[in-house]
Amino acid sequence: MAEATPSRDGRAAAGRSVGDGRGVRGTDATGRGWLAGISDALVSVFFPAGCRICDELLTSASRLPICEACLGSFVRVPQPACDVCGRPLPGLTPEPRSVRNEGRALLCPACRDKTYAFERARSFAMYEGPLVGAILLLKFEQIEPLGAWFAERLAELMKEQGSAPAADVVVPVPLHRRRERERGYNQAALLSKPLAKRLRLPHKAVLLMRTRARPEKQILTLEERWESVRGAFATRPGSQVDNLRVLLLDDVLTTGATLDACARALLEAGAKSVVGLTVARAARNPLPSSSEW
Ligand SMILES: [Zn+2]
Ligand SMILES: [Zn+2]
Repeated sequence: MAEATPSRDGRAAAGRSVGDGRGVRGTDATGRGWLAGISDALVSVFFPAGCRICDELLTSASRLPICEACLGSFVRVPQPACDVCGRPLPGLTPEPRSVRNEGRALLCPACRDKTYAFERARSFAMYEGPLVGAILLLKFEQIEPLGAWFAERLAELMKEQGSAPAADVVVPVPLHRRRERERGYNQAALLSKPLAKRLRLPHKAVLLMRTRARPEKQILTLEERWESVRGAFATRPGSQVDNLRVLLLDDVLTTGATLDACARALLEAGAKSVVGLTVARAARNPLPSSSEW
């Protein structure tokens, strides 16, 4: 702060500009308007108004715009869950023989039908309550500290699953180029970049590309979801994918169709395996042409 302020008393200068920011910007031609803008930004970092989810005053010095109570309220994915897609399988205690295959894996009906091309998918928490708000902040406001916080949770999740080193690269689910230009960033990369750093793995943001955009309409039926991503991804020509174990990151798993379509493109290009990780998982992840789920 002192560096950016011509006055020796940087603190006082910053205080004044916040109190009368508009005046400073409007009247001063010597550069203090620009400085006022910087000090406003600093104040908003160090003294945020309140939790962006519940509005409770933020007391910690963390750069997260979400309070401890909201962060602590995220609902972890209940166990037991499907060994492949991670879908919670309630009511399976103790494990009935009927859902155990010869490899003794616990599988949901979709995974018994080998619906997904990925080897495994796991999520940090259920897409409900305050987590919905947190995902929206990630999606529309590019809050990088929140992406880093979620990446830490996902790294812990991998540790719990004992699969931390079983990947060679970390890849975000890509947006279509037009959509990324409109938004200015890819929210999945806000997760994959800090996770790759934490796991000391290469981050390959451009290995995959989305060749067909998601339909414009906001709400898609289940069939439309599957249809909209089928064949919508490809590996970038010239990229080295052969034999790679890919860790694929996205914000929300709804039907699993997106991770599946990305996994198919990667495997087709020669990848060895694909494991999906998402922050959130929709409570119901129904399959196409099924009213049951
Ligand atoms: Zn809160
Ligand atoms: Zn499953």
